[in-house]
Amino acid sequence: MNVLMAAPEVFPYAKTGGLADAAASLAAELARTKHKVLVVLPFYRTVKERFPAPSAGGPFEVRMGGVAFAGMLRRRENVVFIECDRFYDRPELYGTASGDYPDNPQRFVFFSRAVFEAARLCGFRPDIIHCHDWQAGLAPVYLKTVYGRDPFFAGARSVLTIHNMGYQGVFPAEVMRMAGLPGDLFNPEGVEFYGKMNFLKAGIIWADSLTTVSPTYANQIQTPEHGFGLDGVLRKRAGRLRGIANGIDDCLWNPARDRHIPENYSPGNDLAGKAACKKKLSSLCGFKDPARPLVSFVGRLSYQKGADIAAAVAGEAVSEGVNLLFLGKGDERYQRELEALGERYPGGVYVRVGFDEEFSHLVYAGSDIFLMPSRYEPCGLGQMIALRYGTPPVAADTGGISDTVRNYLPLSGDGTGFLFPEASPGSLRQSLWYALCVHRQAERWEGVIRNGMSVDFSWRKPAARYLEIYKEALGQVPREKSPVPAPLRGPRPLKGSSTLKDTGSLKGPGPRLD
Ligand code: ADP
Repeated sequence: MNVLMAAPEVFPYAKTGGLADAAASLAAELARTKHKVLVVLPFYRTVKERFPAPSAGGPFEVRMGGVAFAGMLRRRENVVFIECDRFYDRPELYGTASGDYPDNPQRFVFFSRAVFEAARLCGFRPDIIHCHDWQAGLAPVYLKTVYGRDPFFAGARSVLTIHNMGYQGVFPAEVMRMAGLPGDLFNPEGVEFYGKMNFLKAGIIWADSLTTVSPTYANQIQTPEHGFGLDGVLRKRAGRLRGIANGIDDCLWNPARDRHIPENYSPGNDLAGKAACKKKLSSLCGFKDPARPLVSFVGRLSYQKGADIAAAVAGEAVSEGVNLLFLGKGDERYQRELEALGERYPGGVYVRVGFDEEFSHLVYAGSDIFLMPSRYEPCGLGQMIALRYGTPPVAADTGGISDTVRNYLPLSGDGTGFLFPEASPGSLRQSLWYALCVHRQAERWEGVIRNGMSVDFSWRKPAARYLEIYKEALGQVPREKSPVPAPLRGPRPLKGSSTLKDTGSLKGPGPRLD
């Protein structure tokens, strides 16, 4: 089978979040099988500067709004980059802290079309075009329209993976014309979304199969609370939708072999290496009392990730004897809020604003507890990485977190972390206090650490599931019966843990006008 993977970011070339890791790991795992994979992503400035890639064909032309735009291909092994400097030679991938690039519709219409041109120029006839997120959301529509009669793509089927319903690519209606799509697709059953054009909706409707990045999120996005206005469309397409939890890259995220940490360790040894990592991290961060439990947050600074919820308990946490660390990049208001926190508690709260992959390894390894107060979480990689590094998460019980963290049960000693039912400071505080209580009991704590470190988060099983989905889309195997959608319900009752109170709601913002 030939799989063409169209992703707006792929690790290590370009990354703003988990999509980059997921696309890279899935492609690598599939490439280990007998199947062929060609990965396509834009040739952003960050790629250009760090990953020289020889020219691999072109120029090709994409007409948008009556104007022809030229692109070229560059290639490194099975990764093809779409070069078009006017669109991709920018400091960031999608926008800066103060807003998105205004020509994002052009940038990703161009990308979605260039994917087909790249396949043709590389002589790679795809059986499956696997598209990721709104940036590639129009490719399934192009496959059925512009390229519908093209013999090169005859028989090809599309799969769309939704990594986050909070980002849909919603643009003014005029973008339709620029995108070169037939005007009759602009209706509520098509790409229209309240008078605008919605790239993700287009993908949801036209893709032959849909996946999202965890089973719980697959259910949640069919509810008004998590569907960001597209829950109805998703319910209609439920028969085509599956949830497959991401894995993590075993080679990249492995405390036994990690080159970015001062000492390696594994569940088979005495974890002394982890203590050495904490020592190094604490000294880098300038904590006054490095013996205190170190509680860390790593993630995008956005409403979704709830860094503000963690910040709301920071003062109390410090006075309760905790050191806090934040590593994140994103919305300016969260960046400022965290920086102010760091200034208010020098030696107790360390804040690094920025995207620092290498430092994140030391943070996962050297921390005692990982904070993940996500308001919603399609899958989440942070909690899995933290578990692998023996850093039990204190995390909101939502989406993929619910599927990958087992709540700690004091009687049996089972469990890998501490889940709280609602992303609020009160709920986080109770769960954190409970985790700190268990942390003081060294033997119990080591049990939690070892439980987490021994979970298999490799990509083997998820990749096998994706292959099944591809075969379903190609009609090679019958479609699995659709899982019954979850009833519209509140947070799950927690097993074990302290009693946690349920207050407020977790409404997210409306879809972003990307
Ligand atoms: P997202 O919703 O952002 O995709 P995930 O939890 O799925 O969230 O994945 C986030 C990935 O990005 C993880 O690998 C995490 O370690 C990494 N990450 C997020 N923010 C930063 C940062 N500021 N510096 C380094 N790595 C980061």
